[in-house]
Amino acid sequence: MEVTAPIETLEFQSEARQLLQLMIHSIYSNKDTFLRELVSNASDALDKLRLESYRDKDLEADTADLHIAIETDPEARTLTVRDNGIGMTREEVVALIGTIAKSGTADFLTKLKEAKDAAASQDLIGQFGVGFYASFMVADKVTLVTRRAGTAEGVRWESTGEGTYTIQPVEDAPQGTAVTLHLKPEDTEDHLYDYTSPAKIREIVKKYSDFITWPIRMKGDGEDAEAETVNSMKALWARSSSEVSEDEYHEFYKHVSHDWQDPLETIRLQAEGTFEYQALLFLPSHAPMDLFLRERKRGVQLYVKRVFIMDDCESLVPEYLRFVKGVVDAQDLSLNVSREILQQDRQIQLIRRRLVKKVLSTVKTMMTADAEKYTTFWREFGRAVKEGLLDDFENREAILEISSFASTHDAEKPTSLREYVERMKDGQQHIYYMTGESRSAIENSPHMEAFRAKGYEVLVLTDPIDEMWVDAVPGFDGKQFQSIAKGQVDLESEEDKKATEVAREQQNKDFEGLLTWMGTALGETVKEVRLSSRLTTSPACIVGDTHDLTPTLEKMYRAMGQELPPIKRILELNPEHALVTGLREAHTARPDDEGLAETAELLYGMALLAEGGELADPSRFIKLLAGRLEKTL
Ligand code: ADP
Repeated sequence: MEVTAPIETLEFQSEARQLLQLMIHSIYSNKDTFLRELVSNASDALDKLRLESYRDKDLEADTADLHIAIETDPEARTLTVRDNGIGMTREEVVALIGTIAKSGTADFLTKLKEAKDAAASQDLIGQFGVGFYASFMVADKVTLVTRRAGTAEGVRWESTGEGTYTIQPVEDAPQGTAVTLHLKPEDTEDHLYDYTSPAKIREIVKKYSDFITWPIRMKGDGEDAEAETVNSMKALWARSSSEVSEDEYHEFYKHVSHDWQDPLETIRLQAEGTFEYQALLFLPSHAPMDLFLRERKRGVQLYVKRVFIMDDCESLVPEYLRFVKGVVDAQDLSLNVSREILQQDRQIQLIRRRLVKKVLSTVKTMMTADAEKYTTFWREFGRAVKEGLLDDFENREAILEISSFASTHDAEKPTSLREYVERMKDGQQHIYYMTGESRSAIENSPHMEAFRAKGYEVLVLTDPIDEMWVDAVPGFDGKQFQSIAKGQVDLESEEDKKATEVAREQQNKDFEGLLTWMGTALGETVKEVRLSSRLTTSPACIVGDTHDLTPTLEKMYRAMGQELPPIKRILELNPEHALVTGLREAHTARPDDEGLAETAELLYGMALLAEGGELADPSRFIKLLAGRLEKTL
């Protein structure tokens, strides 16, 4: 190949450099995966070319014999994977190969640094999937020659993976991309296979890439042998499920998802008749690094009659199921469909509705059929699924049905709402919950006291999304959700009620003076001071009005830069507590004692601390408290 211009040396982006170091000192044991990545990229490149040539009739591309070719040269110790697909321009090579654009990379690298042992690191690498760079597990130098279809000049890229790469134009590069690996010497300690052996390569292709719908050609045995196609090329989703092994599904999953680990569940769907389509979907076994990042993508690809149309097809899956991977192949769409058209398309909307229902029902079956699998699913994706409670009105009940929540019933095991409802006490009207920042803050909060004493189960909701959906979703199975930190609580049975009503009235009368005075003394901070029926051991707690924002939500909104008026809450006092009865007596005896206002302030501060809240003026609180303590000495 004739070199026509000077060689330029460029640096890898720093994340890419770190990742390459990992590959060079590869701690990843399944090195065969490098070939799967190269073939997967080549197949994508062919898909892209076919699509682009459909859409752009002027594209000067050769689409006559699209295929992948693999060549080995035992003497030179090289392995080449070649495709005549879309290729890359110089800019694309620099952007796509010289950097990692994948969101969550920084996060991944941090986690990797923190990983305790090799097994943990392997696991992380598997979750992240490193694509093209996997070549450096087996090669000490990689050469890539590529020419973008429709352009005249090609590019030659080369690197040993050590910080820099070279790049130069080449004139006579064929359309598409050829990646040549200069394999590491055989005698290095971690060299497990001979990747120059055609038999070995054929075996790996069969195992990992059989379903690739483009021919993968290799020269047969013997000097003059013709190249033969080694893969069966059958689209997996179009074959009957009895014909396809679990392993094949798993490898296909890795191809579409770029994940290196097996999926948790495989979901097949077929529709015949006027609008025919097939779907092959997967639930991954772990959340991707970018599940909660803004640049996140959806994982379902659209095909039309076996032709790849687009990645990240947002019309096919709602945002809250963005982690679902796979393909949908629709028979009756035009190959020219755009994202905009898809959004309006009634058939696509029907497919989407069915996909959603199928995913939700699969998870529901999993709950009873394989509890361990469900637990993994919920741990990884529950937070995303719960977003559907806000977004997907139609499936709200089904989403609640497959959700599970931490609860006071069992510290170890989350509960489903169905199980909660089955355990509800006689006469219990509501599903009780409390939101907060951590399990311990919620469990130790004073609001919990009466519920614990009376044996009512409370859901412990600590995800930020929980704060949102509890306000939007009225109930489950006809039972309303009720926060234990909001509004009035009423935990008494009908008979008890009559007896306590009289006592309550008397109490209210007895405390009237104290409540009114405290309401004024603390008027800047609280909306009302009243007696509580939710406390047993604490003197006081703070509750919100039924429709007020919770403190966590208030904090979230403020963090997002929203202007909010200060939200005043209600201070509830425990009429049985010595501090409260004592304060009442002191106030009756010495209504003008200024020290009592300070006690009221301390009482409020304690209630705030007890629920894990933050004092507005901690130094003042400490000064008042120290003053009180001094007097006891
Ligand atoms: P991933 O495939 O996960 O995106 P890779 O590191 O394997 O990551 O590849 C990065 C990008 O480089 C690909 O997304 C693709 O755009 C481009 N690329 C890689 N191999 C090829 C190829 N054979 N032909 C065209 N483009 C390629």
